Amino acid sequence: QEKDYQMMLRTRSPGGFIPPELFLALDKLSIEYGNQTLRVTTRQGFQIHGILKKNLKEVIKNILSSMGSTLSACGDVNRNIMSPPPPFKNKPEYQYAFEYANNIADLLNPQSGAYYEIWLDGEKAISAQEAPEVVAARKSKGKGMIVENSPEPIYGEQFLPRKFKICVTVPGDNSIDVYTHDISLVVMTNKKGELQGFNVLAGGGLGRTHNKEETFARICDEIGYIDKADVYDLVKAIVATQRDYGDRFNRRHSRMKYLIHDWGVEKFKSTVQGYLGKELKPYKKLPKWEYQDFLGWYEQGDGKWFFGIGVENGRVKDEGAFQLKTALREIVEQLNLPMRLSGNHNIILCEIAPEHKETVENILKNRGIETDPEAIEPLTRYSMACPALPTCGLAVTESERALPGITDRIRSLLNKLGMVNEHFTIRMTGCPNGCARPYMAELGFVGSAPGKYQIWLGGTPNQTQLAQPYEQKMPVEDLETFFEPIFVFFMQNRKAKESFGSFCSRVGFAAIRNFSANYTIG
Ligand code: SF4
Repeated sequence: QEKDYQMMLRTRSPGGFIPPELFLALDKLSIEYGNQTLRVTTRQGFQIHGILKKNLKEVIKNILSSMGSTLSACGDVNRNIMSPPPPFKNKPEYQYAFEYANNIADLLNPQSGAYYEIWLDGEKAISAQEAPEVVAARKSKGKGMIVENSPEPIYGEQFLPRKFKICVTVPGDNSIDVYTHDISLVVMTNKKGELQGFNVLAGGGLGRTHNKEETFARICDEIGYIDKADVYDLVKAIVATQRDYGDRFNRRHSRMKYLIHDWGVEKFKSTVQGYLGKELKPYKKLPKWEYQDFLGWYEQGDGKWFFGIGVENGRVKDEGAFQLKTALREIVEQLNLPMRLSGNHNIILCEIAPEHKETVENILKNRGIETDPEAIEPLTRYSMACPALPTCGLAVTESERALPGITDRIRSLLNKLGMVNEHFTIRMTGCPNGCARPYMAELGFVGSAPGKYQIWLGGTPNQTQLAQPYEQKMPVEDLETFFEPIFVFFMQNRKAKESFGSFCSRVGFAAIRNFSANYTIG
């Protein structure tokens, strides 16, 4: 008899869009077949944990018939495409980012019918709803080595050497960690708000392996600018470059970031241009990147509203008086609202009519959900953790279950030191794979042994700078004695308004270590 293997299932939700019928289906499936909870991922999808292998087919079939899909949410293909979650109707750049995230997701969908054959017994229950321009883009002949006769016109016979990640964002909005993807596109409009083209970045990726120096977190390079008419061909050209030149022998060296690192940007760019058959234009100047979580009430710009709910560690659950899962079910059942999931595992309820604002807030309040973003502990509000134990087979140590206790202890320590208003970005993962992007945080915890974390310092609040490893194995019980000197050094030597992460990278680790070595715990 086969063992009761438990599986995790993840939705494909470009830009984090979840239609109401899909949320209700996922909620029900997580109760009937999962561990009763849903998990907002750091790539704007939902995960259900704990599905027995024998129930997978039923669950996937249900998702497919509820306007959802799990196609290419995992595997050596293009993964879920991210875009900023706020549904602003009066800001065309946000509409374009969402539209192109969807179109590129369709463009890079595997063409094989195997997914439907396996999960729907060959039924074509869902036909691809493709925009005409995507169909046109698919038909357009790429120059160079794009495989035209394969059943997989972009992926070829062997698919990609490794997973592939893309985001489409708008100038200034870094709610999707723009520097961490294989390809990042930035929507560029003219003064009238008409789409002109895209700035292109490439070569980001965070996964690494402890004690293997040849693996490392890397942020994107600015590659150039592409007119809108050529953007699908450019994406295909970059994917084809990685398909044909990415390392297929060593999986630890197979993400596109290593190709760009080994080749240098110029060789990568010229190879991509060879596939594309034209040159990229120079990268255009952008405003400073900012991180926003869009919690609380915002006008959509069309008379309706959206409401961002902070979800600690992305876990949608009912536990005692905290009834987030029930609250969302009640809201979606009553008001039929879609939602957008954010890259920081929060939820944005969309399309709320002004007369329904009170209903939404009352349901949340009655179910024990904090509706005032300012009342959320900021260390928690801006933190992220991956699931890790007990559901992730790669976890070395705790993450999601440990982070609330760790942020409490950090808050107590900051308060003891008189830093009651201080906060910074904390991210934690149970292994160096880095699913919660700890290497971009001001303070990153990366599981390195049971009960021990590698400590990364030096990211920025707007996630534009890579942090660096400061300590290899900090025992979790040493948290207060480890951080007290660091926080005191920060408090005594920071510049006005300087963030913790920026301070750490400015003064350097040698200075922090020197201060710590001579500090007596107070
Ligand atoms: Fe699992 Fe590691 Fe990803 Fe955490 S970072 S979810 S432990 S693979």
